[in-house]
Amino acid sequence: MRTKIVAGNWKMNTNREEAFSLATEVSGMLKNEQISAVKVILAPPFVHIGAVAQLLNGTGIGVAAQNCASEVSGAYTGEVSAPMIHSVGANFVLIGHSERRAYFNEDNALLAKKTQLALDHHLTPIFCVGETLPERESGKHEETVFSQLEEGLFILPDTLFSKVIIAYEPVWAIGTGKTASPAQAQEMHAFIRGKISNRYGDAIAQAVSILYGGSCNENNATELFALPDVDGGLIGGASLKSRSFVNIIKSFS
Ligand code: PEP
Repeated sequence: MRTKIVAGNWKMNTNREEAFSLATEVSGMLKNEQISAVKVILAPPFVHIGAVAQLLNGTGIGVAAQNCASEVSGAYTGEVSAPMIHSVGANFVLIGHSERRAYFNEDNALLAKKTQLALDHHLTPIFCVGETLPERESGKHEETVFSQLEEGLFILPDTLFSKVIIAYEPVWAIGTGKTASPAQAQEMHAFIRGKISNRYGDAIAQAVSILYGGSCNENNATELFALPDVDGGLIGGASLKSRSFVNIIKSFS
């Protein structure tokens, strides 16, 4: 059975106090409501990672960075590297979020480098793929996602690839209130798993968790999480409200 995962991407939101409250509320609700069958991960902004990781220590909730540098150390002003992130208590990192690809020009080659560095430094990559609206409308969505996988991830050997989590996030659904239909989500998740099977074999393909992201909320999560190839969600906006986020976590049937 694949690991069910729900990760909350807080993006560039929360001051220190808000980050503490949100993490405390989420962990309190998960404990009180005895939710343990889902791996929950929180991705706060860099400046809160150490404090949030300390606060969540022993709860089973994972902490992720939203990005990492493509170098380990040195004269890269403003950057934060994988070993630094791991040293303050995070165990996961988002790589290739569409906002990084669009606003910071991160291409597949750079993301391949970041993925390798994350794995070298004990961080599990949550590797994001997804097509834009024009790509979907012109029927190029599978081609786009396949090249993101091939160039960003399929360079890894089997042993490392097995550690990766994938998030399918259609760009047109992120923060827009437009969710992929269950049919669109299942079709793309099955496509991704098929490509993994071609590259790494069926055993590895069946074991990799593939999350859906893009306007996932407490009203649509049940339907999305019930799909055979959807193993959970990467949640943006709805992860900023503890009750909504925990309701999404509870949406697995
Ligand atoms: C995201 O940022 O990864 C995301 C899925 O955002 P939202 O849930 O707000 O669409």
